[in-house]
Amino acid sequence: MPSLYFDRKTPVSTAILALFESSNRPLSLKLILDHLKHQGLLPNKTTVYRILDKLLAARAIAEVNVRTGRTYYEKVQGHLHYHFFCIDCESIFCLEPNHTDTLIESMKAANPSFTINDHDLNLYGQCGSCPSNTSTP
Ligand SMILES: [Zn+2]
Ligand SMILES: [Zn+2]
Repeated sequence: MPSLYFDRKTPVSTAILALFESSNRPLSLKLILDHLKHQGLLPNKTTVYRILDKLLAARAIAEVNVRTGRTYYEKVQGHLHYHFFCIDCESIFCLEPNHTDTLIESMKAANPSFTINDHDLNLYGQCGSCPSNTSTP
């Protein structure tokens, strides 16, 4: 992700960009703050929100909202995809885009006059590492 999103690069904005680059799933504000803390950076939330707002405005990242009301952020990958949200540990995972493609294709076939601009698709359940997951005895 190029640094041209910012007029002035700071250690915090650089660290946040690097975090989005290296992450393959959406990040909560808490996760971002924890990561910065590990790097010895202690910005206040307002600073982090301001950086996220700039990245959102530049469409470098996108918001992922779940029904708990929490917002997650992920780098824009150029394709629509579902997310799986673990209701126990509140981790969120990106799913393969081909599932979304199948849905969109069949939706377009049934409704040729519709145009899709955005999506908001989440699946909810327990991830494999959560103890209440009963799918493996
Ligand atoms: Zn979990
Ligand atoms: Zn995603």
